[in-house]
Amino acid sequence: MASIDPNFISFALIRWYGQHKRALPWRDTRDPYRIWLSEIILQQTRVAQGLPYYLRFAEAYPTVQDLAAASEDEVLRLWQGLGYYSRARNMHYTARQVVQDYNGIFPHNYAGLLRLRGVGSYTAAAIASFAFGEQVAVLDGNVFRVLARLFGITDDIAVPASRKTFQALADSLVPADAPDTFNQAIMEFGAIQCTPLMPDCMFCPLQQVCFAFNHGMVQELPVKSKAKAAQPRFFHYFVFRHQHQYYLRKRLAGDIWQGLYDFYLFESPEKHMPVGELVKELQQSGLQVEEQQVQLPRKDYKHVLSHQKITARFYLIETKSRLREEVLKETRLAAFSAAEIEALPKPVLISSYLIDAGILVNLES
Ligand code: SF4
Repeated sequence: MASIDPNFISFALIRWYGQHKRALPWRDTRDPYRIWLSEIILQQTRVAQGLPYYLRFAEAYPTVQDLAAASEDEVLRLWQGLGYYSRARNMHYTARQVVQDYNGIFPHNYAGLLRLRGVGSYTAAAIASFAFGEQVAVLDGNVFRVLARLFGITDDIAVPASRKTFQALADSLVPADAPDTFNQAIMEFGAIQCTPLMPDCMFCPLQQVCFAFNHGMVQELPVKSKAKAAQPRFFHYFVFRHQHQYYLRKRLAGDIWQGLYDFYLFESPEKHMPVGELVKELQQSGLQVEEQQVQLPRKDYKHVLSHQKITARFYLIETKSRLREEVLKETRLAAFSAAEIEALPKPVLISSYLIDAGILVNLES
């Protein structure tokens, strides 16, 4: 690993930050609640996508007490479209934890913050330094990249064991008098100067000392082994409609989209399933459906998650009467009007279908 004076790096990054930082609302506050909110929303999310969600949550729930008092459905509905819904559920759980166990006051240091659900080492370091000025380094994808290039580190950043090396190095760079500004600076530098594909090396204040630049390794660093290919999944959704009501159910734990609402689902190992086979599956679950009742899907809906690639088809089934109580109990389905469905938290895939089918109007933002 190359050796560079830490004071030079922190000074250069902080000066660069003063000239180039973007004005973002969570940078104007030392309120740990707001900082935590922004950090949870921005995990695995670009700033441009996360910003409106941050503003929405900060407005709907100005304090941790307000968020704790909200229902899970409300929180998931406001989160809709941002993906990785476990973040929203953890966030809601943590708000309640802070209110109940900490009297509504966030722990004041890194170690205490780590005890909160959904708060890992990155988020704890961010809150501890931004809100409380603790001298602890943040380590996100941007920081990994900047450090790997500056110091010529070839450890695979996808391997958890590499974290120790990077964390120790990052910690050694954080100045005692400005840990918050330094952390903001190095992340912002990675986000807009030392970017993954087209870093602006020509106008970089660290060019002279940068190992990757001086050894022609900018494109090779950081080393990151490829993630496994996303698994394909094939969903067949049955949209039962009686008069102006539709049957949906809340998804359970143990799979994607926990707590969101979707239709009766049959998942198949293959994309193509003859309708007769699907109807048999429905009948086995007590749903009295005949093949002629099933309206065939018009198109496939595709949705890509981090580890899964979903292809979904929707089969509309008009029923002559309401679904029987035993069936509702067995399948956990419940009837909803279009207005009620609008207020439910739903996967984006389900919203797209509802809009295409004319059941909901496109008011989604
Ligand atoms: S010289 Fe290029 S690779 Fe090195 S820190 Fe600057 S922008 Fe990143």
